[in-house]
Amino acid sequence: MVVELVSVGTEILLGNIVNTNAAYLAEQCASLGLSLYYQSVVGDNEKRLKDTIKTAMKRSDIIILTGGLGPTKDDLTKDAAAKVLERELVEDEHTKKLIIEYFEKRKRVKVSKNNWKQALVPKGSIVIDNKNGTAPGLIIEEKKDKNIKRIILLPGPPNEMKKMFENDIKPYLSKLSDEVIYSVTVKICGMGESLVETEIADLIKEQKNPTIAPYAKMDEVHLRITAKASNENEAKKMIRPVVEDLQKRFGDYVYSTDEKETLEDAVVKMLKKRDLTLTAVESCTGGLFSGRIINVSGASDVFKQGYITYSNKAKHRLVGVQKATLKKYGAVSEKVAKEMAKGGATAAKADAAVAITGVAGPEGGTDDKPVGLVYIACYLNGKTNVEEFRFTGTRDKNRHSSVAKGLIMLRKMVLDLEKSEKKEKKK
Ligand code: ATP
Ligand code: MG
Repeated sequence: MVVELVSVGTEILLGNIVNTNAAYLAEQCASLGLSLYYQSVVGDNEKRLKDTIKTAMKRSDIIILTGGLGPTKDDLTKDAAAKVLERELVEDEHTKKLIIEYFEKRKRVKVSKNNWKQALVPKGSIVIDNKNGTAPGLIIEEKKDKNIKRIILLPGPPNEMKKMFENDIKPYLSKLSDEVIYSVTVKICGMGESLVETEIADLIKEQKNPTIAPYAKMDEVHLRITAKASNENEAKKMIRPVVEDLQKRFGDYVYSTDEKETLEDAVVKMLKKRDLTLTAVESCTGGLFSGRIINVSGASDVFKQGYITYSNKAKHRLVGVQKATLKKYGAVSEKVAKEMAKGGATAAKADAAVAITGVAGPEGGTDDKPVGLVYIACYLNGKTNVEEFRFTGTRDKNRHSSVAKGLIMLRKMVLDLEKSEKKEKKK
């Protein structure tokens, strides 16, 4: 079954807002096993909107429109759809009641006149309640020759649209499709994309169902395994041995197989498990590393404080980097990175510390210390590892890459600690 997406709104057409609705819906439709061949964006113009709907109905079975369901004059989607389908607009009693309740709950005395427009629906529509707003969603089933075309209208605000899709549209669509597509992502860090691809060249060559697709993300590689089957359980069963095989091949490089888990989630989780606290001493990343750690809900269990030591003075004053080291080796050096990490851990009384110092660019590079040269030191329980990196991106990219490398180094150090403890126990 072929589905087509139509995003309505001049602000999307002109690039004032990013079309996140289409990205969300495209992923959702793919996971339901629906084929998606076309997406379009159309402004708030009735003629062009009607033409778009007509064209979509010629080539697709299901058309999902978002936006333009509100109460104002530029909200035209419902009118346009009703005209194309030659259905009159009739008042839906249930929606009218919900609109009154919505306004009462928010203590707004009077429902403005144009809000009643939202209770009008094309005759014969299936009405979907909007739990976060006033415009209901609509499903219109249109018999055409022997086929049924389905036109689905959803509100534009992403929070309203997603709730409705999740609660009502997804169950409706999954009944139409006799196939599900299910995916699991194996997330790898600390190994480059080409090396990862070489390791799985044989799997990729043989793949049919499930398929394996590598995606390079900021200093990570994600392998997405996707299976088509008649139901979710069947698909999961097909995926499991592939995930196990990948875990065997990549070992500790795999940090998660959970769709929602980020690298910082995984790092915080492993620190928490071992009751380790962490601090960060940041120069060129200026708080970006601490920010990523604090992205994780519950990070306060491991992260108490961090330091932004941008100047030499701050490096000395806050975390005790020696003036002589700064003078002899310069702020961007292995020695300074090490002293930053160790000094940070001491100052914050933390078990672990990540220190980052480098030339983010685009200015400030010299022959000796070019743009992109970054030293990252990682301290854990008395031991310090330091690595030199030569990034080649923009200032922004170099700073984000530094943070990712810092997380990867820290994760590796904790894993190594676990391994050496296991060895000790065996003895
Ligand atoms: P409202 O009742 O708020 O007018 P509506 O259904 O008429 O809702 P629009 O007026 O088209 O929807 O859009 C309202 C807001 O929703 C936009 O200003 C924008 O912030 C967001 N929005 C609409 N379409 C999209 C989209 N495709 N992607 C992301 N955000 C969107
Ligand atoms: Mg609107």
